Amino acid sequence: MKKNVILIPGIVSILVLVTVQAYIIGQIWGQKDELFQIKYRQMAIEALEYYEEELRINGFDTALYMVDYYSSVVLQSNEFASASIDEIDYLNNLIIQEVRNILNEHQYLSELLSGYFVNHGFDGDLTTHIAINKFELIKEENSHTVYINREDLTGRAYKSKILVTQFINEDNHHRISFNFYIDVADKQAIILGEMLISMFMSILSIVVVVVIFIVAYHNLTEERRLSDLKTDFINNMTHELKTPLSTITVASKTLEFEKVINDRDKIIETARMIGKQSVSLNQLINLILEISIWERTEFEPEMKQMAVGTVLTDIVDSFRAGYREVATINSRISLEGLTIKADVTYFTTMINNLLLNAVRYSPENPMIDIKAYSNGREVIINITDNGIGIDKSHQKLIFEKFYRVSHGDIHKTKGLGLGLYYVSRIAASHGGRVELDSQPGKGSTFTVILPLNSN
Ligand code: ADP
Repeated sequence: MKKNVILIPGIVSILVLVTVQAYIIGQIWGQKDELFQIKYRQMAIEALEYYEEELRINGFDTALYMVDYYSSVVLQSNEFASASIDEIDYLNNLIIQEVRNILNEHQYLSELLSGYFVNHGFDGDLTTHIAINKFELIKEENSHTVYINREDLTGRAYKSKILVTQFINEDNHHRISFNFYIDVADKQAIILGEMLISMFMSILSIVVVVVIFIVAYHNLTEERRLSDLKTDFINNMTHELKTPLSTITVASKTLEFEKVINDRDKIIETARMIGKQSVSLNQLINLILEISIWERTEFEPEMKQMAVGTVLTDIVDSFRAGYREVATINSRISLEGLTIKADVTYFTTMINNLLLNAVRYSPENPMIDIKAYSNGREVIINITDNGIGIDKSHQKLIFEKFYRVSHGDIHKTKGLGLGLYYVSRIAASHGGRVELDSQPGKGSTFTVILPLNSN
């Protein structure tokens, strides 16, 4: 729900941005197209003036002569003279079509313009269009005129073309007015070429905004997730701190009882209990302090040569001794004579954390197998349990700070969600890594992989 509060306005603003950019590009395109037309039109008019003034030609002289000849033929034809009102319309169309054909075939203005454009360094690849506005046949012998009028849809059909000029001509047998248009064949490509930079910039700006939005959104959700985790952590920590504290409070109160004061054994037992709880309190506080120190400064363990087999055997042996009654612990450690560069304290903490988790998350008869060997380049330590396992969806997350898998609404096993975070950071600081293979309900194998000494 809360995510949508950011997501929807974000997406809407991106859509608005895209629409605005598309509108701007459309506008620029329109302007470029207009400029393009103006430029070519001006050139064409210049060319026309040049040819008319210098050479007394306009490119349509032959064509118009032929139209007049054709008009005289039409006027003399019986077919036309005897045409009924219905037929006149049909004939009009034929005549206009023929006139247009004659104009198109016999005009050489397009060649003149093309040549002029090329001479002036412009693209001379032209297509031409003729739109007849008005055509009249003039028949004088009967002292009346036969009009054939036809309006072309010049406005719409030729909007994107360049109007060069309007020709108006009157001869013995006809009167005509027509527009002459040209079009530069690769106009679109030329305009696109000119617009490439602005289009690129606007696409780039959209991409940048989208990327920034995604990153910001990701950071925000990440931030929120972390803050949820922190809240969980604080709740857990309070719980963890409260238990030893309340034991200490109760124990110290007991010491005030008359009966207890006189019982030496009781006093010693209570003092021990207070001591034990203080130790665990202290450990907790140290752990929290240590984590916050890691946050502030780069984590730098004190690396020394370490006989990894011996150290690991010691850790496992003392763990086994401590948990003899709780868990069955088997180990096969084949690391004789191998050394790694490591900080013994951190290494011990890492292995202990994994062993402790193996016991804590195996509720029934914990069976823990430790297998350690080397592949020649690395030391590989497998710690396998027969516990509750970890669902795929949590497997990556459990190494994050404060992350805990909730089982139902309460955590059966107490913890701060720091153990594995600690493990993965220690492994990384030793140039190694931790891998996990787990099946819910069956158990888990945590594998620590650390590089061997190269020499
Ligand atoms: P904590 O144990 O304090 O919650 P950890 O970082 O050690 O924190 O572990 C994170 C979570 O990973 C635990 O809450 C638990 O759900 C899960 N987990 C860790 N080790 C095991 C294991 N061996 N078997 C099953 N789940 C485990």
